[in-house]
Amino acid sequence: TASVRLESVSKAYGAVRAVDDVSLTVERGSIVGVIGYSGAGKSTLVRLINGLERPTSGRVFVGDDEITALSERRLRPVRRGIGMIFQQFNLFRSRTVAGNVGYPLRVAGVPKAERDARIARLLEFVGLLEKAHAYPEQLSGGQKQRVGIARALATDPHLLLADEATSALDPETTADVLALLQRVNRELGITIVLITHEMEAVRAIADRVVVMDGGRVVEQGALYDVFASP
Ligand code: ADP
Ligand code: ADP
Repeated sequence: TASVRLESVSKAYGAVRAVDDVSLTVERGSIVGVIGYSGAGKSTLVRLINGLERPTSGRVFVGDDEITALSERRLRPVRRGIGMIFQQFNLFRSRTVAGNVGYPLRVAGVPKAERDARIARLLEFVGLLEKAHAYPEQLSGGQKQRVGIARALATDPHLLLADEATSALDPETTADVLALLQRVNRELGITIVLITHEMEAVRAIADRVVVMDGGRVVEQGALYDVFASP
């Protein structure tokens, strides 16, 4: 089964069709890049996939669930299966690296011993175990995003949504973070949707590409088909 499937999904804000009749499938275990200029509808697409927005029309499936048919209460466990990372990292300034990574586990009521063990494994995976007691402001941008990735993985998601996750980083750091996302995909088997305006990020790690413009999907296909077109 697919990790994400959209069937003729539209989302209107008044007269603006932010997402306009979009159909797409993200196969389990793949990395799909969603690319488009500012205003193309990418962020709206993210909010439709994680259930923060309901479409004006159409159906959204995440894993085996049609999330457009679920109540808020029944959406909650589906959301726990989706990790999110952001352009501005969205870390808590007042919490240590370990505190940030462990936060979703604390919310989920995971006992401290289990939480600590899991925090250590996650920090080891992203190569930041020695920064466990540091605060976000003591970290570089790339380190902050690695903390963001560790936190996103804390609840064992099957899907990771990366919303402009490398857009605030310099090219070298971007390459490191993309390499880490590739390990998340290959070693942990997590499906990734990489939403970005950066062609290079998509080219570096995506298997498939979805090109959006004006709320519509204007092209989609395998990486080489989309970028090799004359
Ligand atoms: P992107 O992430 O590709 O920049 P967005 O999904 O943010 O695109 O926006 C797509 C269009 O929808 C834009 O015209 C934007 O102004 C509009 N839009 C997005 N969210 C809202 C909202 N909450 N209210 C009104 N208009 C919105
Ligand atoms: P808070 O949640 O109040 O921000 P801390 O940031 O101090 O608390 O720690 C969060 C959790 O991470 C605590 O349970 C702590 O024991 C654990 N922790 C701290 N350092 C490490 C580490 N090096 N490896 C694993 N877990 C750690």
